[in-house]
Amino acid sequence: MRADSAPCTASVSGADSASDTDSASGADGASAAEGSARAEGGICADSASCDEGTLHAGLPHGDTSGGSGPTPPTPSTASSAPTAPTAPDALYERLRGYEGRPAAAEGRGRDPVNATMIRHWCEALGHTVPPDGSAPATMLQVWTMAGLGGGGADRAGPYTELLGTLDAAGYTSVVATDCEQEYLRPLFPGDGISYDAVIESVSPRKTTKLGTGYFVTTRMDVRTGDAVVGTHRFRILKYRPARRGSPPAGRGAAGAEGGTERSRRPRPVVNRDNAGFWEGVARHELLFQRCEACGTPRFPWLPGCNACGSMAWRPVASAGRGTVYSYVVMHHPPFPAFDPPYAVALVALEEGVRIVSNVIGVPCDEVRIGMPVELEFLRVDEELELPVFRGARRAAA
Ligand SMILES: [Zn+2]
Repeated sequence: MRADSAPCTASVSGADSASDTDSASGADGASAAEGSARAEGGICADSASCDEGTLHAGLPHGDTSGGSGPTPPTPSTASSAPTAPTAPDALYERLRGYEGRPAAAEGRGRDPVNATMIRHWCEALGHTVPPDGSAPATMLQVWTMAGLGGGGADRAGPYTELLGTLDAAGYTSVVATDCEQEYLRPLFPGDGISYDAVIESVSPRKTTKLGTGYFVTTRMDVRTGDAVVGTHRFRILKYRPARRGSPPAGRGAAGAEGGTERSRRPRPVVNRDNAGFWEGVARHELLFQRCEACGTPRFPWLPGCNACGSMAWRPVASAGRGTVYSYVVMHHPPFPAFDPPYAVALVALEEGVRIVSNVIGVPCDEVRIGMPVELEFLRVDEELELPVFRGARRAAA
């Protein structure tokens, strides 16, 4: 599976929140009632939309669960009325002309359904391989994916034209908004896969938080032999990005607080469970907890022991010596109050607990896993002090 087929939970609320309810869901529900199992897989986007090379995120969606759980709003399809009185939209009229035309033709799965892929997929997603050896239904898209070599070879001319028309009109960005799947029968190892897809609908122009554009829905029919075994509906928003608000001049927020300093570091949330830690920091002690019942050290601070459940503990001051267990060097994106590059490390203390902090005193590119570090306290501003770790420089040559 290509990386971008991983289950996506990224929400595209920007695209969805401004759109109205999908009037097509009723029709879908009716077809689902005819003996087919149906679920929204964690499917990100089809190869066609992902291949656009821009932002994409899948929104597992669908009103298929009989009402349990929230039903995200879904974009309108062409069958729903525009939300606002619209001026005649010549582009929309052109786009509608593509409805019913092919989006992909004569696609062939690269491999027949096979036990190896089923096993890997189940392991990756934490599922159990079905006892009858069938492929989990939500694998449906797996069998049609183009692989890392790139897709689009099976893309039909009309779909390319449609996307090109939108590009030419300035709707150059694309985001996959949702995917619905319908499962008609299970797939078993040995089943060969073929598919084609049709441009099912194009919405009237919609304005979303991401920008203004058109939702394009394609439906892919997946077959083995002549029998349709399942369908995907993929919906993308092809849009012209909204102009972002211009960044505030200067550091208005900090200025409003009375200071002339730049943005301040985020404040820790101090509560009853961790107040003792921050009291320690104020005394320049790095305190972890040790369970009174079983002796297990723990950090960050928690009310009870994860090892034995005991609520009895005492604070222990670390000697402040440790090693870099893992680290990242932050270059991008920039955050207010942080000057990149800087090293964020998970430091393993000698006492057997780990803490996330910064490594200071050495160039970021010299930070290494296993590097010895020593505790220091960094005065960030007048009210915030933080434990940080000074890296041991290599012996001077
Ligand atoms: Zn314990």
